[in-house]
Amino acid sequence: GKSLAGKKALVTGGARGIGAAIAQSLARAGASIMIADILDDAGKASAAAIAKEGVATGFVQLDVSDDAQWERAVAATVSTLGGYDILINNAGIEITSLVSEVRAEDARRMCDVNIVGTVLGMKHAFRAMRPGGAAGKGGAVVNIASVAATIAFPSIAVYSGTKSAVDRMTRVGAMEAGKLGYGVRVNCIYPGLIPTDMGLQLANDIVKVGLAPDVNAAVGSVVEQTPLGRLAEVSDIGDAAVFLCSNEARFITGIGLPVDGGMGM
Ligand code: NAD
Repeated sequence: GKSLAGKKALVTGGARGIGAAIAQSLARAGASIMIADILDDAGKASAAAIAKEGVATGFVQLDVSDDAQWERAVAATVSTLGGYDILINNAGIEITSLVSEVRAEDARRMCDVNIVGTVLGMKHAFRAMRPGGAAGKGGAVVNIASVAATIAFPSIAVYSGTKSAVDRMTRVGAMEAGKLGYGVRVNCIYPGLIPTDMGLQLANDIVKVGLAPDVNAAVGSVVEQTPLGRLAEVSDIGDAAVFLCSNEARFITGIGLPVDGGMGM
């Protein structure tokens, strides 16, 4: 049978890119899907596309940095899908800048979305999934960090810091959830560079700040640093997320899984 049959999953940032692909992979594995995104139209379109996998889907608008909106999103997931077993904490932003040019407001927004957004997701997942919660059957959380949490790549200092924070928060979340008997496993993935909207923007920005002559050279140098010799694809991340949420990963918690073709080793 399908490894996630009957599971109910909330995917943040599921309107496009890696989030939409993870949602599709989870759906193919049998999970029903709640797409949550700050983007309304694109979020609804993504949910409709995933419904073609033959599972129940829904959409809820959510800015992950807002605690009250999380409360609403989890309630909508439980009522629409009839439970809550899986959280994919994927929403994130990247604003490229050399350290010498960093703007405080950009740094703060990255912290708000990538760090505060991720911990609030864990907070509301734990409260709903643990015994006595609105769903109450335990579950799995997958946080999306980045290879940037493990290597020093110029022009993304603040972003890298926020992703290192996601990595550490994953370990502490896993520790608490285990020791306090929530029945929730918490892991994170470090994706390599993927040409999504975010990845393509970064490739362009690398040129703008003067670190590469053109986009092809920027992408080429990443591929060159990758033993498996290509960029990551969104389905690489989707398949890894399915594994971490499945019973095959039942004794795995508190890990950071690189899905980067070896770039971060
Ligand atoms: P993307 O920009 O293509 O998509 C991000 C999605 O998140 C969008 O739908 C956007 O609307 C949504 N989002 C942004 N801010 C939000 C908020 N405050 N609340 C709710 N939703 C919000 O980016 P992507 O490449 O698909 O990245 C997804 C995740 O993967 C991010 O956490 C990113 O940091 C991480 N990542 C990306 C790469 C890459 O190369 N693309 C590599 C490593 C990690």
